[in-house]
Amino acid sequence: MILKQRTKSNELKILRALDTRLKLLETEKNYYLNLEKGFKGEVEFDLLIEKSIPNETNIAINDFVYEINNTVFQVDSLLVSNNTIYLFEVKNFDGDYYIEKDRWYTSSDTEIKNPLQQLQRTETLLRRLLKELGFGGIVKPYLIFINPEFHLYNAPRNSQIIFPTQLNRFMYELSNKLMKTNSSDRKLSEKLLVLHLTESPYSRVPKYTYDQLTKGVYCRNCYTFISTPLVCSSCGEVEDHTTAIIRHTHEFNLLFPDDKITTKVIWEWCGQFMAKKTIHSVLSKSFKVNGYGKSRFFTIDRP
Ligand SMILES: [Zn+2]
Repeated sequence: MILKQRTKSNELKILRALDTRLKLLETEKNYYLNLEKGFKGEVEFDLLIEKSIPNETNIAINDFVYEINNTVFQVDSLLVSNNTIYLFEVKNFDGDYYIEKDRWYTSSDTEIKNPLQQLQRTETLLRRLLKELGFGGIVKPYLIFINPEFHLYNAPRNSQIIFPTQLNRFMYELSNKLMKTNSSDRKLSEKLLVLHLTESPYSRVPKYTYDQLTKGVYCRNCYTFISTPLVCSSCGEVEDHTTAIIRHTHEFNLLFPDDKITTKVIWEWCGQFMAKKTIHSVLSKSFKVNGYGKSRFFTIDRP
């Protein structure tokens, strides 16, 4: 049973929008691409769990941010089952890596953060949090390499590391081990869910202003800017005006949460080529209408 689905963080959504509407610096762009890649790997892992492990044997909590003693930490994926917590740190590395004296490097000799140490840090903080919640069970941490193109030279013989070639076997063995969840699993999961912070306070979004950003409608599939009719010249994706307007209104609201949403604002944001009448009609049907006449604006209900 999935208690918390993975969703794109606002950080990732904002960076994706900025990458389309702005020229990010190289470091910002790399950071964004890494987040995107990490997210993709985590989604793949979620699917694998769903596919391989019977629903009734675990409670899955995906993508959690916690704080304990002013330290924030993130859990990629967690399964609660029979007073045991399976903690997964998921890495979507591809290409060749190597280890030398406990340090991890890419094939171009760039040192990266040691993922095992990252896992240990998360484990330590999670244990501390669980202790506060009165959990007396077992925590089993694993480092998962999801990408079949990943290879690690000088890999240590460590049962906590699951390589792509071991992943299916690992899932099979895990699914055989797990039994039906019990009421204390459910209680613990509920407690964990309550403590989740919705956004990590350490997100790294660059500063931006409205004027810096390119206005227009872009393809939902490949992010190429398009004009009416809404057919992407790059990938052929077709979208109707209503969904495009709604999508870009959400985007505008995410980037500029303090700005009022009006017909004129969204018309400008979408590149000024759609009829204001169309935009007005879509906004009126899709969002909450406030005020009258010229001072009319729209608000998006938060879930
Ligand atoms: Zn496209």
